Amino acid sequence: MSLSQAEIEQIVSRNLDRVHQQMQAALQRRTLDGPAPQLVAVTKYAEMDWIAALLNRGCRDLGESRPQQMAQRKELLAAHDDLRWHLIGHLQRNKVRHVLETGAFIHSINSWRLLERIDDIAGQLSTRASVLVQINVAGEEQKSGMAPADFLENCSRLGDLHHTTVAGLMTMAPYTDDEVVVRNTFRGLRQLRDEARLRLNTPEVLNELSMGMSGDFEIAIEEGSTLIRIGSSLFEGLESE
Ligand SMILES: *Cc1c(COP(=O)(O)O)cnc(C)c1O
Repeated sequence: MSLSQAEIEQIVSRNLDRVHQQMQAALQRRTLDGPAPQLVAVTKYAEMDWIAALLNRGCRDLGESRPQQMAQRKELLAAHDDLRWHLIGHLQRNKVRHVLETGAFIHSINSWRLLERIDDIAGQLSTRASVLVQINVAGEEQKSGMAPADFLENCSRLGDLHHTTVAGLMTMAPYTDDEVVVRNTFRGLRQLRDEARLRLNTPEVLNELSMGMSGDFEIAIEEGSTLIRIGSSLFEGLESE
């Protein structure tokens, strides 16, 4: 049985309302200062009809995992010139040029080498790259990201970049029901950012903290997230089985 576009819109709308309410409630529990978090709708598994429903509801920040799918969808949705594309998945060195040409905000820089390559290519393209450095806070074997110590010890290298804005940090919490582990991961990212600011002696840098997904965004908001990346919660009830 397939759903009509009106049914899809209704389901997505209800899901979005629920997520916004949960975001608000988490923000009220938060005791830290800082801006309200921005929702990035992760569309990596979404069909175009589902994305249309999100756009109708005013979503403008869309997250994709794969550069190729992101570029294709950017083309398909070219009529919307106000969309902001977020690359949240692993970025291979040979895809850097392609991704910079899309103008996407890249959440997943996992090494200094990749960051320097981005800066080089952004220079060649006479553009400015906007990125986040992904940190493997929990030190999980299977997760991508820079080690916290590597980032902190070398953070002065951020000053060597000429064509790149490192807007902040990103992390993923371990997949667990243990709230303490999840909270410590998000808190760890925030504290790492705070330490880097001290070392750099500049309080106004690394403002963005991209943390929180469908299963853990409320904890992430309590811990100071500025960008939450939500996929499955927005599309509940639409799975085409
Ligand atoms: C898929 C993905 C998300 C969204 O996950 P959901 O659990 O579907 O909300 C967020 N961040 C990254 C890096 C992802 O790969």
